[in-house]
Amino acid sequence: MSFIDKILYILYPEKCAFCGKVMPRSETGVYICAECMDKIRFCVNERCCSICGTPIDQDKNICGECFDLRKSGGSMNYDRIISACVYDENTKGGILNFKRGFASGSYKTFGGMIAASVSGKLKKIDLIAAVPPRKERMRNPGFDQCHILAAEVSKRLEVPYMKNILCRVRETTKQTSLSGDMRRENLFGAFEVKIDPGFINKKNILVIDDVKTTGSTFNECARALKEKGAAHVYGASVAETDFENS
Ligand SMILES: [Zn+2]
Ligand SMILES: [Zn+2]
Repeated sequence: MSFIDKILYILYPEKCAFCGKVMPRSETGVYICAECMDKIRFCVNERCCSICGTPIDQDKNICGECFDLRKSGGSMNYDRIISACVYDENTKGGILNFKRGFASGSYKTFGGMIAASVSGKLKKIDLIAAVPPRKERMRNPGFDQCHILAAEVSKRLEVPYMKNILCRVRETTKQTSLSGDMRRENLFGAFEVKIDPGFINKKNILVIDDVKTTGSTFNECARALKEKGAAHVYGASVAETDFENS
């Protein structure tokens, strides 16, 4: 560590992205302390739905909702969602701090977690996109957590990221206050592709979000991207709400 690095480290020590414990500097830029490492449910160690990514029982491959949809001949607009960990009491605090702009440095840890989770699991990704922010939720003006995460995932996966591929065409009610069906309705048609469709035509696109709940956000992003010619659309998030077991 150079002298300047040492001074910077004293002034701005690296902290565990989940509990805030000061940690030694790491080459990977991913900061999760041993205690959090033990407690966090990483999706790679869980049995998760091979379509929507939600944690499921050991004897299944897909969740009840994806099973019913398939049985009725329907399908999601997205091809697959992968999350890095489960959103619970061990991960919630760190993720909320980041979302609110209080721990902006955690993007390296969270972006690193997403990159590691999707690595080798999806068809070749051509382009990375971010879920566009809800304007009134940006407490820290100019802080757009999905954009920052997507840029970090792009760097780590060495896949180009284009900002503003997707935009919100209307503001929607805060999703956390709504049930599953209402979430879907609330978000229907909420996103549009505003760039030249030539950039996304026949491309496999990975959309980045911070927390995945029902998957409605990814589904609507995928709808907009596929309407403009995207071949496959995948979603990836830092954390996944465990609906079936909560
Ligand atoms: Zn920790
Ligand atoms: Zn599913």
